[in-house]
Amino acid sequence: MPATAEVPTRPRLGVMGGTFDPVHHGHLVAASEVAARFDLDEVVFVPTGNPTFKQHIEVSPAEHRYLMTVIATASNPRFTVSRVDIDRAGLTYTVDTLRDLKTERPDADLFFITGADAIAQILTWKDAAELFDTARFVAVTRPGHALSVDGLPAGRVDVLEVPALAISSSDVRARARAGEPVWYLVPDGVVQYIAKHRLYRGRHE
Ligand code: ATP
Ligand code: MG
Repeated sequence: MPATAEVPTRPRLGVMGGTFDPVHHGHLVAASEVAARFDLDEVVFVPTGNPTFKQHIEVSPAEHRYLMTVIATASNPRFTVSRVDIDRAGLTYTVDTLRDLKTERPDADLFFITGADAIAQILTWKDAAELFDTARFVAVTRPGHALSVDGLPAGRVDVLEVPALAISSSDVRARARAGEPVWYLVPDGVVQYIAKHRLYRGRHE
């Protein structure tokens, strides 16, 4: 018998929040890189309900965004998708996302993953101080956006350089609207889902 009992380690849960309209390879690479570097057991993708910062643009119905995220993540055994934000009424605030996930998974340590553009806004998010108490943050590089974590709580925010993919959902939507190819920007199943449901056609942004 070992002299000391093994201390059970807490599960490490990544949280990838986004509108995912649609999910693309930039999101998937960011999640995969953070999972590898931070030794995460799982990354849960959380499509927003009504995104607070996107009220001025038309956002696809939550079920489409949710299903595309399920299709995109299905082949990765460590990736899952949560409905916490789309099933909550009202605007989506990340502080509520983290509270709900903490309630569902009280034993886990949470790592919230954001791109450079999102982390730059974080102090404007609701209950910013509570965010950093509930989760550690990992800010990843994104082409076209300077990455700075100045002013954010030291020890609660890490920075990670990830392979540069200059892909955005806005660009994918613009391409779909114009009948241009979106192959290889998003997973094949998402290309087919967009075509099947004629998403982004005739939309004005
Ligand atoms: P939109 O153009 O509609 O804003 P988006 O491509 O920015 O879409 P979001 O759903 O807004 O995608 O982003 C979710 C999260 O993923 C954010 O933290 C964002 O910074 C990050 N992210 C998005 N695209 C990339 C990328 N190419 N590389 C790194 N991080 C990314
Ligand atoms: Mg965005």
